[in-house]
Amino acid sequence: MTDIETELRVRRIENGTVIDHITSGKALIVLKILGLPDSSHGVVSVLINSHGVYGKKDVVKIENRELKAREVDRIALIAPNATINIIRNFNVTHKNKVRIPSFVEGVVECINPNCISNSNEPITSKFNVNTEDEYLKLRCFYCGRVISENIAENLL
Ligand code: ZN
Repeated sequence: MTDIETELRVRRIENGTVIDHITSGKALIVLKILGLPDSSHGVVSVLINSHGVYGKKDVVKIENRELKAREVDRIALIAPNATINIIRNFNVTHKNKVRIPSFVEGVVECINPNCISNSNEPITSKFNVNTEDEYLKLRCFYCGRVISENIAENLL
């Protein structure tokens, strides 16, 4: 382990959010979903390929920010095992596994260029989420096209 990794691992935050158990390699997409780094919040720490109890994982720590439900829904789609820990005054006050929504609206763009949700009509994208298989599958409410591996690239 490098010194930098050690420092990130032990760094505690006073107030903010720790997103733990992110699917290994997905931390940067989580940052993108959250619009980070930005100038108005505190320090963001990222651990990539950290060794967790259940294998490798990524961890993101964000000072002075709590997440909106809409942000958590997006994170759930690309890191279904993530846990969201709310830190207040150095203590974990809430710890929740993300819940995969069964339906998402305005979150993902349909990959079918002919889909009505990609036309000039003012139509919000809608997908039913199927969690029965190993990988999440999103089925477009309008055209039935399924998005699976490339959910991250199609986030709105
Ligand atoms: Zn569609």
